[in-house]
Parts: sequence; structure tokens; C-alpha cells
Amino acid sequence: MKKEIDTSNLEFASRCVHGGVYIDEQYNSVVTPIYPSSTFYFEGPGQTSGYDYTRTRNPTRDALEENLASLEGGAGCTATSTGMSAISSALHLLPENAHIVAGNEIYGGTFRLFNSIMPNRAMQVTQVDMSVLNAIEAAIRPETAAIWIETPSNPLLNLTDIEAVCNIAKKHKLLTIADNTFLTPLLQLPIELGTDIVVHSTTKYPNGHSDVVGGAIISATTEMAEQVAAMCNALGTTCSPIDAWLVLRGVKTLSVRMRAHEENGNALAKYLDQRPEIEQVYYPGLTSHPDHQLACRQQKGFGGMLSFDISGGEERAQAFIAQLSLYSFAESLGGVESLIEHPASMSHAAMTPEGLEAAGIKPCTIRVSAGIEAISDLIADMEQAFAAIA
Ligand SMILES: *Cc1c(COP(=O)(O)O)cnc(C)c1O
Repeated sequence: MKKEIDTSNLEFASRCVHGGVYIDEQYNSVVTPIYPSSTFYFEGPGQTSGYDYTRTRNPTRDALEENLASLEGGAGCTATSTGMSAISSALHLLPENAHIVAGNEIYGGTFRLFNSIMPNRAMQVTQVDMSVLNAIEAAIRPETAAIWIETPSNPLLNLTDIEAVCNIAKKHKLLTIADNTFLTPLLQLPIELGTDIVVHSTTKYPNGHSDVVGGAIISATTEMAEQVAAMCNALGTTCSPIDAWLVLRGVKTLSVRMRAHEENGNALAKYLDQRPEIEQVYYPGLTSHPDHQLACRQQKGFGGMLSFDISGGEERAQAFIAQLSLYSFAESLGGVESLIEHPASMSHAAMTPEGLEAAGIKPCTIRVSAGIEAISDLIADMEQAFAAIA
């Protein structure tokens, strides 16, 4: 029924547009149709079109999965209902009583899962400073089954050397799972660096328009991809056809949006870095960033996320945020509109005060997701906010 375009030799930008998008021979639709059908009829005993029930497999979701697998350089993908459902489904691949080594500073929802949900399900997590390779090795126990990688970290943009961590994991026969939400496959390819599984919140850059929640699990091997698909079917964590269609529509412009996010992120980091009110800017593109060299080596760009500490503590941080008009005061990231938030009370509120301190997240830390507006407008808005709180 459908004519596939061979996208395997195309450049990244072309694969964003054409990956998984089949030409519809029935009505010549250029865009992948939405198949909202929950079920598909059998032509006879055991005779299906390849689809029987949407939780298991759906043509619209298939299209998105093929696109994302191609972008990440993986063998297969399962698109899930949210980023957290991708993460919790991936954890179900680990054996009973598994122990995981993860970074100190990870996405707040992952922190909550690791610290308050999984320990009750006989799964233990040790969080370490992932930039200290000895600390990772020291945390490995006989029951350790996986290393969790999130780089750059959220919200302080610390980097983990993916290749070095994967080498440690291989030595100890551990699975590696990387959350690639912050950079997307345009700017970082964990599978190429040795990672077994990549997870995404497609809510963020892949969809890019702040109008859907979704996730994805991309596996390096076909065998792993099949296990993931079976797990997500069993757990019921796959995404709806309509959400899959929205993310597929968004991902077609990923390469151009991501370049614009990055350009603005870079310009905002440089602007903030020279403001007297700012104590520290966290952005891997700044030469002063402790992991700048690693970022140049491991990443194909520095991304659109940055954080900064403002002098005057939490009160001044909140006052600055309140003065802005172009930046929405909201959690999440990766949409075309710029967002600003206060990690300690919002995205990372699930962390304990000790956890926040260990991670280095201060009451005066502010996180920005640079949108794709004109940089002159983004800077002008900050300029007036600084003047207002002076
Ligand atoms: C948002 C986010 C998640 C969770 O994704 P949801 O779609 O909100 O469930 C996981 N990891 C990172 C790095 C995120 O930013």
C-alpha cells in the first residue's frame, strides 16, 4: 500500500522531513495519515495487515518511530505517551533487585522516580558526580545493572563523558541508558558513543511547539528494540496515534528549529555573562564552562538551554522573572517560545534540600529555554527587567 523512500543515505535535515513518511498510494496524501482506529480487522484466521491493536502497533506511530530511530542512529524505536513513560518502561528492562548508578543532577521527574518510587519496587539507585569516573566505578555493586546518563544535566548543564562512561559499563557488563532530551540527535548521538538505549521527552524539542506530551525509546540493536516494544505493549505505555502524528509534524522542522534555539541560547549566555547582576552562567558554549572542551568533542553544538545565578538570592530571582514579559514563566523546554523557570521551586521541587545542595542548584538559580524569537527582542526584555529590579 505504501511506498517507502529510502532515507538511509540522506543527511539529518532530510531525514527529519522524510523519515518514516510514507507516500499514501490510496489518495496520494503527501502527509502521513492519522489512523485513530484502536483495532484492525482480520481478513481471516491469523491474516492481518500487520496491525491488530493500536497499543501494540499503529501505522501513524510506526511512521514516527521510524523517523526517530533514523535520527538517533538506532535499530528501532518505541514512541511512548510521555518522557516519563519512556523512562519508567526502560527501567522495566532491568532484572529484579537491580541497582542503578546515575548522576547527582538529573531531571526532577527522574529524580522522583529513582528516589521515591523505584526503591519501593526493589530497585536501588546511587547518585554520584558523573564527571568523576572513579566515583562511578566505586558505586558499582554486584547487583548493579545499568548506568543512567543525562548530559548536559538539568538544570546546570554539567557534562558527562558518554564514551568514557560506556567503556566503564562495558567492562562491568552494564546496560547504558542516556536521556538525550536536552540536545536532540542533531547535536548529540549517544548510540554512536556506545550507549545501548536513548530515551527522549518528545514533549520538548522533537515536537517543539508545546502542544503535546510524548516520549521515545531508541535502541542500538534490533534485539533490544524488540524487547522494548514488547515491554511497552505489556505495560501499556505507547503513545496515541494523534500524539504520534503531532510529534511527526514537529520533528520535520527539528534541524532548523534547533539551530535557531542554539543561536539564541548562545547569544543569551554571552549577554548574561557580562551583566554585573549575574554571578554565574551555566552554558557549555562559554569557554569558561568547565566542560567546554568535552562539549566541543562530544556534541555538535551547545543547545538552547542555559541557567544562571542572580545576585540577591531567591527574592531577586523571583523579582527578575516577574518583570519579564516575552519569556513565559513555565516549566518544560524546547518549544518555539522562550520559557523561564525557577528550578528549586518548580522543575526540581521533587528534590530534597540536601539533594538540591549536592547538585549545586541554588535558590537564586534560574533556567531559560531559549525560544526562536528575534534575539534583539529577547535581550531587550531582559534589559528592561534588570533595569526594573535595579
Ligand atoms: C521533560 C523531561 C523528561 C520527562 O518528560 P515528560 O514528557 O514530561 O514526561 C525527562 N527528561 C528530561 C531531560 C526532560 O527535560
